Amino acid sequence: MARFRRTLGLVLVCCLLVGAAPGIASETHIHSHTWEEIQKPSCTETGIKRGVCSCGDQIYEYPAALNHDWSEWVTTNAKCTSEGERTRTCKRDSSHKQTETLPKLPHNMTDWRLDKQADCTEPGKESRRCTTCDTEYKEREIKATGHAWANRIVKEAECEVQGLSERYCQNGCGISPEEQAIPVLGHNLGAKTVIKNATCSIDGEIRESCTRCSYYKTTPVPKLGKNQANGHNFSSYAKTKDPSCTAEGQETRTCRDCGRAENKAIPKLPHKSNGVWDVEREATLSQPGLEITRCIDCGAQASSRNFTPRGYRYEVPTSAWGPLASEYPGGGGSSLRLLYLDLSYDSDQRFALVTEDGWLIGFAHVTVANGAVRVSVEKKSEATVMRYRAWGMFPDAATAKAVNYDNSLPFDQAVKGPGESCVIALNMISNYYQGTGNERFSDGLVSPDGEASYGQINELMLQMAEGSEE
Ligand SMILES: [Zn+2]
Ligand SMILES: [Zn+2]
Ligand SMILES: [Zn+2]
Ligand SMILES: [Zn+2]
Ligand SMILES: [Zn+2]
Ligand SMILES: [Zn+2]
Ligand SMILES: [Zn+2]
Repeated sequence: MARFRRTLGLVLVCCLLVGAAPGIASETHIHSHTWEEIQKPSCTETGIKRGVCSCGDQIYEYPAALNHDWSEWVTTNAKCTSEGERTRTCKRDSSHKQTETLPKLPHNMTDWRLDKQADCTEPGKESRRCTTCDTEYKEREIKATGHAWANRIVKEAECEVQGLSERYCQNGCGISPEEQAIPVLGHNLGAKTVIKNATCSIDGEIRESCTRCSYYKTTPVPKLGKNQANGHNFSSYAKTKDPSCTAEGQETRTCRDCGRAENKAIPKLPHKSNGVWDVEREATLSQPGLEITRCIDCGAQASSRNFTPRGYRYEVPTSAWGPLASEYPGGGGSSLRLLYLDLSYDSDQRFALVTEDGWLIGFAHVTVANGAVRVSVEKKSEATVMRYRAWGMFPDAATAKAVNYDNSLPFDQAVKGPGESCVIALNMISNYYQGTGNERFSDGLVSPDGEASYGQINELMLQMAEGSEE
């Protein structure tokens, strides 16, 4: 309505300007409209109002539609069998109505209920219904279970009798069981028992019994016969030949049933010694002598014994006679005998070879040349046996060790020495004669090389060893 007013006002201003231009004087007029309602606004349509001025000017206004003035909803509830509805009415005009449909409610179904149990061959049935309307109803089939087959034994089989089993329905539906035969077991023969042993002349018997029933089976064992060792009925042994010191004797037994004869040797008798010892082999330094007695009956050797003549000694440890290791500086507690050698000048010396029981039986011949040492052994008596000879060379008494055949340096050839001086050890095992050619040893004996005694030579070696220490 304000828009219409503005438009009319603009037209009015133009009229005034046109009227004023040629200088026409006019009085100023203010509209005064009188309103009348041409059409009232309804719920859905706008109204119309007209204003008229005394000057003939007209203006219009259009009041807005009122909209419905609704009452509360009036509802008819939905059910599981029918839809519901709600309606409201305009308070201004009862012919104005609005209606909405409400959807059906779901049926209120029970759980499935068992009407008929299925069995082996016939299906069962279950159903459910709506608890509200009591008209909605559903049913469905339950499958037949089929037979529940199982086997059972009606009668066990025996060794010689068939058994019986049957196939039946475990559900107890009344279907006839199917019978089936169980084959006979046969006998189960156990361990063999000897009922009667076979002998050389009579058959034996063996029995095998069934472990389930009283059945048994007997098997004969043929007699063993004469030409084997078992099952005879022997007499006791009787001597059939006397033994002597040169031939075995014999005793014999015979089977009373088959006549088999068995012989057994009787060992030879021992020789009977005449008690007279004769020399069978003379003693040498290589081996002791042998004496025997003879048998009175046959003259063969009856007994024997070794003999050692007076003065013969066997297997006696022997060494080159020098000071004990313990007497040397730094030599410790060793009872090894060591010879001290100065290697800074050439020399040729003989040292005593002395047995453990104190006899001089030869010499260690020691030659020093250009710092190398050569060792040879000389016997005093040609008959002496010297075995397991061994020698070793060491820088000093502190490093010296016992020597044996397996770790010996070579004899009769030069061996390079360890420096300015050394000690050597030499030993062996001897068989010798305490007499002609050998002599009882003492440190007062004079060496064959000069006027010094062996005791003095040892003193000298110890002094030299101490001198080289400083
Ligand atoms: Zn007017
Ligand atoms: Zn209305
Ligand atoms: Zn229902
Ligand atoms: Zn069945
Ligand atoms: Zn049996
Ligand atoms: Zn016999
Ligand atoms: Zn004899």
